Amino acid sequence: MERSLKSMMPPKEIAGARNLAINGGVPYLDSIPWEDPGVCTEAADDVAAVVRSGRTCYWGGGPKAKELERRFAAGLGRKHAFFHSSGSSALVTAVFAVGADENQSVVIGSSGFVAAINAVYHNRARPIFLKTDVRTLQCTAEGYIPSATQQPAALLVTHFLGNVVDVPAIQAAVNATRVIEDAGQAHGAFLAGKPVGSWGDIGSFAGSHKKLVTAGQGGLNVCDSDLLNDRMRMVGHHGKAGRTVGEVPGYNFRGGEMEAVLAMHALGRLEDRTKDRLRTAAAIQDVLDEAGFVSARASSEAPDARPAWFDVALILPPEWASYRDWLIQALNAENIPVSTYPSLIEMPWVKPWMTSQGWWGDREEQILAHERSLWGRVIVIGTQMSPEDGRRCAEGIVAVLTGARIGEEVFA
Ligand SMILES: *Cc1c(COP(=O)(O)O)cnc(C)c1O
Repeated sequence: MERSLKSMMPPKEIAGARNLAINGGVPYLDSIPWEDPGVCTEAADDVAAVVRSGRTCYWGGGPKAKELERRFAAGLGRKHAFFHSSGSSALVTAVFAVGADENQSVVIGSSGFVAAINAVYHNRARPIFLKTDVRTLQCTAEGYIPSATQQPAALLVTHFLGNVVDVPAIQAAVNATRVIEDAGQAHGAFLAGKPVGSWGDIGSFAGSHKKLVTAGQGGLNVCDSDLLNDRMRMVGHHGKAGRTVGEVPGYNFRGGEMEAVLAMHALGRLEDRTKDRLRTAAAIQDVLDEAGFVSARASSEAPDARPAWFDVALILPPEWASYRDWLIQALNAENIPVSTYPSLIEMPWVKPWMTSQGWWGDREEQILAHERSLWGRVIVIGTQMSPEDGRRCAEGIVAVLTGARIGEEVFA
């Protein structure tokens, strides 16, 4: 394609153009493309049967939840699965289960969804951040210096955007007692022939809106250890190990029966849906590649590795950095659904909290600067739409970024 970066106008000129929808022009797309929220509508009768049974939740988990847990664990080759009320609650019980408390540290990728750092905060453990690789947008052990005095209780990595983190390579550098994978966006992805969620002591999955195994609301943790399984269930069940006494201050994090039915239907469609998303991701990436833009790359090209793209991430050229938030608004006005994620270390409460604990130093400041400059240039587009819509959205993004959308007459 001729529209290369060379012909790109300065962002300042583009932002002022009157025919952009944000400035009152006609939107690039007639309407916002349909995005699949993931709920299997064919599950409606089975959900209705649960309602008619008169019981939609059970103390300790009901028969549908137990059936889902069996199938989910088997699909990943793990011994246990525990169905939670959300992916966020699953991360809280995972961090609790590995014993990461106020005397412990958790090495955590700064690349991820906010629920991961929230879970570390709620368990009162000290986070030690890993940097993000600029090519894959996944966490990396590059620059990590192990503590001379304390072994981290856990390594918590997120397979972010559906891409795959090299879990064994990072664990080799970090040597944490336990490894937790947040696979909330990457269900269906593989690393060295093994599915994500089967590498760590605990694999954690989200079942909310747009996730591949959507339960409406839900989350699942998998593990092989009886001890970890018991601890997750205890804290997610009011802190009770037996029937009456709360051993620790716990929560009610159990998943419901209607949600378990939805998740089982979605599980049956996992492989087809993963392939659909890969097709849409490829359509978007092709348009961006042809136009000379940079998007996050798969971590591995090996034949036994596969991402399950949840979002395609466009990494904007440096001159667009201060226009990133404007660009998101402008594209949304064109009916192109894009958004962004801040890195975990830049959540506004993290630095004040860590400073108050005496945990913030030069290393954190350097990682913060690196993460801000990288994630400040990222916009993401979801793969939950058709490949045709993905292509049209990507073409619209390119047209805005290159100035082609604006038409030369405006500037003549
Ligand atoms: C969505 C998501 C979660 C949290 O799931 P909820 O069910 O929304 O609480 C956790 N991790 C990742 C990577 C996610 O994308």
